[in-house]
Amino acid sequence: MAAVRQLLRPGSLARFTARWRSTAAEPAVATSSSGKGGVCFDLTDEQKEIQELARKFSREEIVPKAAEYDRTMEYPWEIVKKGWELGLMNPHIPAEFGGMALGTFEGCLITEEIAYGCTGIQTAMEANNLGQMPVIIAGNDEQKKKYLGRMTEEPLMCAYGVTEPGAGSDVSGIKTRAEKKGDEYVINGQKMWITNGGVANWYFLLARTNPDPKCPSSKAFTGFIIDGDSPGLIRGRKEINMGQRCSNTCGFTLEDVVVPKENVLIGEGAGFKIAMGAFDRTRPPVAAGAVGLSQRALEEATKYALERKTFGTHIANHQAVAFILAEMAMETELGRLAWMRAAWEVDEGRRNTYYASIAKGFAGDAANRAATNSVQVFGGNGFNTEYPAEKLMRDAKIYQIYEGTAQIQRLIIAREHLTRAKMGLL
Ligand SMILES: Cc1cc2nc3c(=O)[nH]c(=O)nc-3n(C[C@H](O)[C@H](O)[C@H](O)COP(=O)(O)OP(=O)(O)OC[C@H]3O[C@@H](n4cnc5c(N)ncnc54)[C@H](O)[C@@H]3O)c2cc1C
Repeated sequence: MAAVRQLLRPGSLARFTARWRSTAAEPAVATSSSGKGGVCFDLTDEQKEIQELARKFSREEIVPKAAEYDRTMEYPWEIVKKGWELGLMNPHIPAEFGGMALGTFEGCLITEEIAYGCTGIQTAMEANNLGQMPVIIAGNDEQKKKYLGRMTEEPLMCAYGVTEPGAGSDVSGIKTRAEKKGDEYVINGQKMWITNGGVANWYFLLARTNPDPKCPSSKAFTGFIIDGDSPGLIRGRKEINMGQRCSNTCGFTLEDVVVPKENVLIGEGAGFKIAMGAFDRTRPPVAAGAVGLSQRALEEATKYALERKTFGTHIANHQAVAFILAEMAMETELGRLAWMRAAWEVDEGRRNTYYASIAKGFAGDAANRAATNSVQVFGGNGFNTEYPAEKLMRDAKIYQIYEGTAQIQRLIIAREHLTRAKMGLL
């Protein structure tokens, strides 16, 4: 297989080049590639090639091994290394630091295909993008060279360390403390539920630097880059989760971990904005992952419905079953459109918070409906580990929890919507 790098024409892939024109407050109005107007849904040739490469990799390398990784819960190093060789990981690292500088849209194309094969493996790979995003959006050149550069030299993992035992949705409740002592910070606290937490070479970490409880979140927290081998950083055990079981979820504690001030992103107090800002670029791929799962659920259910017979005919010929498939198809297509819009908006340089939450919220819920429906179409076999549907159902649930729960997405969408309404922008 040709690696992604070989598919890129110089300078041509830095951003999605579809020709929709829209503003956040207006419906999309677009011109087609023919220049005659109308919406254009064409991928560029390079995007098609990237998608094809990821699809082939997923079908050939991931699909046959996914059930075994799920059973053993072993970290998918072999797949990660092959994916890294092909350029299917770390797509957003800027070219000046050795990366491919792909847009969010191209990253999502890859993510959807990998997720079709196994969302546990997709989450393991995607967590690198989540860990890197604060450095990409807020790091200085030295930080990028040191921490992003190494990801392009060997297959390393990194992680995004924000959640704590006492604070998930309510990020402003985190208790990890960083105290400045001369040119260093000393950090103490505990992180929980961190994807790649047990295997990360380095972490983005959010800690409180202003102890005053009245200090607003926008000033109270600081974002750090922490080396994985820092003395005092103690990794916990791998969590045994309901689904996506080969991805590594792990907590860690920080006991007097010393971090040089050079590892602060932007400056003291900027951390909350950086940590939240990363989601505008990482929620579209989470949505794309959920769509990959929905697509898989739809295809598996369809195949089965065309093979299984009851009452003298294939179950696909029972309208009640066919309508289940139709529902799944509708929601898969809509989820895909939603991640495309969200990714395209941010690649166009516009604030996409509203679209990112719509995509993540919708696709996460849709993946759960698709997976449950897939089990239903499989009947008793759907409940059994010999068939693919039950894994999809277990794997789907996390899309309604991580990177902002289904409820938090609705809070964001409502806030964004009402703000526009009050400004007369609807
Ligand atoms: C497998 C896995 C991987 C993860 N990976 C990472 C990672 O890499 N890095 C990281 O930092 N974190 C990670 N997380 C943490 C994840 O982001 C949080 O679990 C999530 O944000 C929810 O936080 P919580 O678990 O504390 O739930 P809580 O915040 O306690 O929420 C509990 C319930 O209350 C609801 N709720 C909370 N507040 C409101 C509200 N205001 N209105 C309505 N409903 C509300 C929630 O939607 C949820 O249903 C991961 C979690 C899991 C399980």
